Amino acid sequence: MADRKDALSLVRPHLLALNGYEAVEPPEALAERAGIPASQVVKLDANENPYGPSPKVAAALTNLRTHLYPDPAQVAARRAVSAYIGLPPEHIVVGSGSDEIIDLAFRSVLDPGDAVVNCTPTFGMYVFTAHVCGATTIDVERDQLFAIDVDRMLIAAKDTSVKIIVVASPNNPSGNATPVSDLRRLLDSDCLVIVDEAYVEFGAESVTPLVAEYPNLLVLRTLSKWGGLAGLRVGYGLMAPELAELLMRAKLPYNVNQAAEAALLASLEDTATLNTRARQIVAERGRMFDALAGLPGLDPLPSDTNFILCQVPDGRGKAVYESLAAQGVFVRYYARGKLADYLRISIGTENNTDRLIAALRTTLAA
Ligand SMILES: *Cc1c(COP(=O)(O)O)cnc(C)c1O
Repeated sequence: MADRKDALSLVRPHLLALNGYEAVEPPEALAERAGIPASQVVKLDANENPYGPSPKVAAALTNLRTHLYPDPAQVAARRAVSAYIGLPPEHIVVGSGSDEIIDLAFRSVLDPGDAVVNCTPTFGMYVFTAHVCGATTIDVERDQLFAIDVDRMLIAAKDTSVKIIVVASPNNPSGNATPVSDLRRLLDSDCLVIVDEAYVEFGAESVTPLVAEYPNLLVLRTLSKWGGLAGLRVGYGLMAPELAELLMRAKLPYNVNQAAEAALLASLEDTATLNTRARQIVAERGRMFDALAGLPGLDPLPSDTNFILCQVPDGRGKAVYESLAAQGVFVRYYARGKLADYLRISIGTENNTDRLIAALRTTLAA
C-alpha cells in the first residue's frame, strides 16, 4: 500500500500552532458541572441579555421560507439598519454576528506577516482572527484604569506591517468607553481603525457620526447583547461605501440566514422595547455595583456596558470563581495575566443579582 500523507501535511503551518477561541459553555454543561438542573443555573458569564429578544422576534420566525436561499445583497436588512443608524445602506454590511465582520475585514486587509495594534486586555476575537490570517497583534497595554494609551498605539502603528488598529469601546472586559477625541487621533493614522461598539446601547457615545468623515473607520455593532440575539448570530459593520462594497463581494454569499435576517428586522421595529430593557439593565448594573462594593475585599469598576469587572482579593480569583460555580453561579474568570484577580460578571435580572451576592457572601466568609 502506498504511503498515506498525514492529514495535516498540507495545512498552512501557522495554523498548526493556533490557539482556539476560548468560548463559554452552554447552560446544560454548566448545570452538569454544578450538579443542579439547568433551570437553576445563574448564567452571568457571556454578557447575554437576561430578557431575551424582542417579543416580535418569535412571530417573525414562524413565517420563514426556509426552502429558499436568503438575500445575498441583504437589501431589507441593510435598509432596516440604515433607518435605525441614519447612514445610507451603501455604508452597511450585515454579518453572522459582528464576529463575521471582524473576520471579513481582517481577511480583506491582512497579508501573512502583517500586524494589528490591539489594546489589551480586550476581546479575544481580535487576536484569534489575526492569527487565523497569519498576522500578529502588537499588544499595547491599557493603563491601571483600563484607558487606552493613544501615544504608544500611534508609535506602534508607524511600523509598516501594521494595517489595522482595533478598539472595543466600551471595552470587554473592563467596561469603560474610549473618549471620541482619542479615537479621532487614531483615525488620523494610515490604518484601518475598527471601533467595536458591541455594548454601545448601554449608554456610551457612538462614533457612527464619524463614518461619513473618515474612510478608514469601521464601526462594529451587534444584536447579540442589546438585541438578545446571541444565539441567532447577527451583527453589522458601518464603513465607507467603497469598503462596504468590497466586503460585500468578499463575503460568503448567504452569510446571513433567513432566521437571523427576520430577527434583525423584527428587533429594529421594536427598538422601544429593547431600549426600555437596556435602561432596566443599566439600573440593575447600578444596584449590582453598590452591592459588590459593599462586600469585603471586592472592588468593582465603573461600567458603560451590561457587565461589571470586579477585582477580588489577591490571588483568590480562581477560588472565588470555583466557589460561585459550585453554588450554580457562573461568571467569567481569567486564568492569566493582569486579570487573574478579576471576575467579569454580566448584569442579569434582579433575582440573578440577589443569588450572586448571596453566593459571594458565602464564598468570602469561608
Ligand atoms: C460580545 C461581543 C461581540 C459580539 O460578537 P457577535 O459575533 O456579534 O456575537 C463583539 N465584540 C465584543 C467586544 C463583544 O464583547
